[in-house]
Amino acid sequence: MADGQEDGERRQPREDALVQATSVALTYVDLAGVARVKTVPWSGFDAACRDGVGMSPVFDAFLTDDSVTSSGVSGGPMDDLRLRPDRSVVRWLAPHEGWLFSPVNRFYRDGSPYALCTRTLLARQVERLGERGLSVRCGIELEWVVGRSDVDDFVPATRGPAYGLARVSDLAGYLRDLYRALEAAGLAVVQIHPEYAPGQFELSLAARTPLETADESVLARAVVRAVGLRHGLRTSFAPVVDFGGVGNGGHVHLSVAREGVPIFAGGDLAAGLRPEGASVIAWLLEELPGLLAIAAPHPVSYLRLVPSHWAGSFRVWGIENREAALRLIPASTLVDASSANLELKCADLAANPYLLLAAVLAVVEHAVAHPLDPPKPIVGDPVTVAGAEPLPERLEATLAALEASSVLTGALGDDFVEAIGAVRRAELARFQDASPDELVAAMRWGWS
Ligand code: GLU
Ligand code: MG
Repeated sequence: MADGQEDGERRQPREDALVQATSVALTYVDLAGVARVKTVPWSGFDAACRDGVGMSPVFDAFLTDDSVTSSGVSGGPMDDLRLRPDRSVVRWLAPHEGWLFSPVNRFYRDGSPYALCTRTLLARQVERLGERGLSVRCGIELEWVVGRSDVDDFVPATRGPAYGLARVSDLAGYLRDLYRALEAAGLAVVQIHPEYAPGQFELSLAARTPLETADESVLARAVVRAVGLRHGLRTSFAPVVDFGGVGNGGHVHLSVAREGVPIFAGGDLAAGLRPEGASVIAWLLEELPGLLAIAAPHPVSYLRLVPSHWAGSFRVWGIENREAALRLIPASTLVDASSANLELKCADLAANPYLLLAAVLAVVEHAVAHPLDPPKPIVGDPVTVAGAEPLPERLEATLAALEASSVLTGALGDDFVEAIGAVRRAELARFQDASPDELVAAMRWGWS
């Protein structure tokens, strides 16, 4: 995938600018997909890197409304973890002056890695691929809607049409400040555009390593939300904002190379796939139902996954097919081989990005070790193709598929599977009697 020009170093604040730093947000994402934080003064950052900052492990039993469930491995008042920021990732938390952002890894008090640290899980998964000669670049598209902040219901902040210049013009000051803040945060914008749904926009960032992609996804959302607030706008990244309408996706783009050679381009198979690329598609299709319990993790996620909404609600793949759960963006005259990538369209932004990328990469690892041929790519809207299989329509089914998948449970381990199951089941219980409208209204402003 197309890469940003600058290296990691240059995205960090300049050394001489750090005299203006006052405080740093030490951030991770819980299993419900909510970014949680402790903050320390900038003068305490070195100590935090060394000794960590205390925080209860209970948050991996938190739900999206801050109520708490429990499982054999999570929940309860006992114990403490140490949050240790990754010193190599420090960014300005723009547009807030003086604030920095640094993602953390979580440890037990004895210094060993915490069993439910999703950032550690992702780092390990990337390492495993590296040992097998594979490197990955990826991206997570961000879609959101902006509503007026002076009303409780969702009232789009612009009446401009889908992809319309009027929408940019209506909110040009907001978008300009957003560009500036994203740049100040060291985030390389590829593009921002008005999306289909009322008040909806989309941001694409340059391709990065998986860990950087997840970190930047968390940071970018914080920046988008903050710039919105300064302009009197309320931001929603929720999978569905208006029942029946087009929702907010969090599509994952994935480029994989073996010893520097892309596996999704330059081969003899359909659209230039190499055998390993084809096997990745085949195995992702195989594992999609279970993967969805991580990629579309909330009951409300399933109101987004409907046909003909470009949400990728069919368990099929296609070449440049925006209705397929897996869309291949092949190399072509204007897209070089390293930019060829596979897009997982059925994911949304309720997903914990570390956990999601770790799960996807676990499937990639399995796929290259177990060659499998994918079915034929689907041409056209799968809703019109006989035999095209829809994805499961409920979280109950995808959670059961996750628990039955030896590939996913093997990669995640028992503790993660148990803790994820507890959170998902508790969210299901919370909304078991809710109508779709009630569910959407309850979750409309979640996951900001
Ligand atoms: N908003 C759509 C979704 O829910 C995606 C539109 C697009 O293809 O970018 O995923
Ligand atoms: Mg989009």
